Amino acid sequence: MTQSITIRRPDDWHLHLRDGDMLRAVLPHSARDFARAIIMPNLVPPVVTGAQAAAYRERIMAALPEGADFTPLMTLYLTEDTDPDDVARAHAEGLIHAVKLYPAGATTNSASGVSNFDKVAPVLDRMAEIGLPLCTHGEVTDSEIDIFDREAVFIDRVLDPIRRAHPNLRVIMEHITTADAADYVRSADSGLAATITTHHLVINRNHILAGGIRPHYYCLPVAKRETHRLALRVAATSGDARFFLGTDSAPHTDGAKLQPCGCAGCFTAPNTLSILAQVFEDDGALDNLEAFTSLNGPAFYGLPPNETRITMRREAPQHPSSIDTPDGPVTVFDPGFDLHWTS
Ligand SMILES: [Zn+2]
Repeated sequence: MTQSITIRRPDDWHLHLRDGDMLRAVLPHSARDFARAIIMPNLVPPVVTGAQAAAYRERIMAALPEGADFTPLMTLYLTEDTDPDDVARAHAEGLIHAVKLYPAGATTNSASGVSNFDKVAPVLDRMAEIGLPLCTHGEVTDSEIDIFDREAVFIDRVLDPIRRAHPNLRVIMEHITTADAADYVRSADSGLAATITTHHLVINRNHILAGGIRPHYYCLPVAKRETHRLALRVAATSGDARFFLGTDSAPHTDGAKLQPCGCAGCFTAPNTLSILAQVFEDDGALDNLEAFTSLNGPAFYGLPPNETRITMRREAPQHPSSIDTPDGPVTVFDPGFDLHWTS
């Protein structure tokens, strides 16, 4: 039985670090295991200009623990007022690595997102020209579309038309949750990839709703039925270069989660690697763990893989069940099974 695995140091291609006290509380948990992360821009107010992204990067660097080796890869929040020149400048400076599309109202702090996609066409054209990827929160927000269908409908109504209108635009479907999305990614020869979260490999919608409601498993896009979870497992563990890790680790205090109308998000930064090693081992795919966590993402983003390595040992990890922050405790995602790998 394999007792240790050594892989290139992983990156997280979709991460929420928040700001202020919460940033200082959660950042060390990502910086411990990950060398780089794509930082989501949905602060209040959102990060929409190059200047705001530079200031946010400064705050992240200032919050890093002494001696940490972690590089935040910044993104801009796409709005109908985004200036293509500002985007191009921030990209040329090496400041931003993607622009994030949130359909208006799709998730936490997405009120400034896009309603009229024609209005962002000039930005998308410029991004295609300079090779800057678009990250998409792939859900429509129309109230008449069932929440479990919103990703599949997004592909037909929004994503496919965008890709046809901007054939050279590189696109990442973030945190995919359905077999439909995995199939759509596989249908493209190039320029399209997807991130998959840790928790969507572990939970289906029963985990949220059966036998009592479990707010800590509620995230967006919401977990779907078991067939979709299994399709995500196949995609993630296959080694296919079009799929890579984006944890979407999204901390909210218990006070904000445990409400009549609670927030969406799972906080997986502390135990993601232990869970993933377990998932890949259970699926007989430990050999493909490094591709998913450390190789496929940088290849799509046009960055070199990390030179440093980490070794995971077969040993029960000691992860906290929650972390304390000045705003209150934040519960760590519970995979619901024992973990046997320590990073
Ligand atoms: Zn997210």
